[in-house]
Parts: sequence; C-alpha cells; structure tokens
Amino acid sequence: MLFRQDIHIHTRLSKCGAPEGIAADYIRLARAAGYSLIGFADHMWDKAVPGYSNWYDGQNLAHVLSLHHELAGIDKDGLEVRVGCECEYDAAHRDIAVTEEAALQLDFMLVPNSHTHMTYPGDREDREAHAAFMMQALWDILESKNAKYVTAIAHPFHAVCCPYPPAELLAYYSDEDFRRVFRAAAESGIAMEFNPCCTSGMGDDEDSMRAHPNFRMFRCMVESGCRFTYGSDRHTAVDYRRHEKTERFAALVGVTEDKILSLK
Ligand SMILES: [Zn+2]
Ligand SMILES: [Zn+2]
Repeated sequence: MLFRQDIHIHTRLSKCGAPEGIAADYIRLARAAGYSLIGFADHMWDKAVPGYSNWYDGQNLAHVLSLHHELAGIDKDGLEVRVGCECEYDAAHRDIAVTEEAALQLDFMLVPNSHTHMTYPGDREDREAHAAFMMQALWDILESKNAKYVTAIAHPFHAVCCPYPPAELLAYYSDEDFRRVFRAAAESGIAMEFNPCCTSGMGDDEDSMRAHPNFRMFRCMVESGCRFTYGSDRHTAVDYRRHEKTERFAALVGVTEDKILSLK
C-alpha cells in the first residue's frame, strides 16, 4: 500500500460534487480502505480575488470551511482529517485565486494548472497553444507570492474535459521543459499529485504503462526530486475505494514511500 493519504476529495459542497459526497461516508470508507489520513479539497476561489466566474460564485473560503461544522459531529475512529481546498488558477492575473489571509486558514491547498475548460481563454484545438498555457500556468503558480501555501499541483497537465486525450498534449514538452519546471517545484516544496486520471487511456500491464506519455512526465518528476501526493478526486462517496492501478503506476515510475509528502 503505497499511498496512505488521500488528500483530494470533493464533498457535496463542490458544485460538481454529488449529493452522496458526504464526509461521514468518506471517513468510514477511507478507514475501511486502510487510509490513515484524508483531506477534503472542495473547489475554491477566494472571493477577495476579483474575477471569479458564476461557477465559482459561492465556492469561497467560508463555504469550504463550513465543512468543519459537519465534521465536528463525526466519529473519525482514528482517521486524521484535514480541510483544504482545490484552489483555482487565476489566468487573468497569472496567479493563484487566493489571498494569504485565506491560505492561512486552510490545512492544505491543491492548485491545478490544468482546469483549462474554465481557465484557458483560447481554442483548445490549437494544441500547441493549449500546452503552452498549462506550462505557463504551472510557472505562474510556482512563482506566486502565495506559492509557499501550495501543497501540491492537482492532476498536473491533465487538461480537464479535454475534447481529445489530454496526454496528447505532452508531446509539446521536451524532457528539459519538464525537468526545469519540476526542479523548481521540488525546490519550492510543492508536490505533484497522482490522481486516477493519470492512468486513464493506459493499459493495465507494465508495457502499456511505460509506453504512455504520462510515464515520461512522471519519470521526469521523480528524476527532478519531486515529492508526491495522492488524490482520488472523488466527487461521491459511493463505491469509494483505493485505486490500485494508480498505485501500480506510481510504483512503476519509481515512487517510493520516502518520496511521498505526508500531511501528518
Ligand atoms: Zn481538478
Ligand atoms: Zn478535484
């Protein structure tokens, strides 16, 4: 069991979360699955940062922190529970959509460079430009004045709701492009997330895992000294369980327990 902490879980507080995204159910099932810690990471745009979309309206710091009320009455049965967020990248300001005051109130913070369905103003069919945007977004996150509050990059370079397989975009980055940015992340103490989406479009056997473009990218992360987190990115507690394929993929790219960031 490589990953003992799942720190990317959405509850029903997220607009895209299912009504079954109930904290008590996640806690019970995570205990049964052998996790020692889980982190709730509902979507957030700090409302003190101007420019949020209608979708983010209401998904602010107070909303995310309201989960504490629900958690107060729940028996954790030894499971450690953290309340963080998945905070949006603010493309207009080329920064993280958070103030320092808000970041200080969260147990952890995930930031994606790849919510391009919401953040990229261009046409995603222009693949080279789409890929360049995600690389710039990652650099902007690393160079943010609030970078020190970022725990991990959520589903790195996995363009969400992409009209074609997101892994096709990885062909636009050289190993050196990857190493430069991943070394900077490693030096800033910002981890990279393993997420079940990493293994989408990938066969179950080792050869297909190695042949998948994500293998090269995650190898570059390992070689650059990155640390890693795991996030199931679940939006419902129904059938919540370990994602064994992602664990096998992580082991195959060379992730060992000492490379995993612990929130304990
Ligand atoms: Zn996400
Ligand atoms: Zn998410």
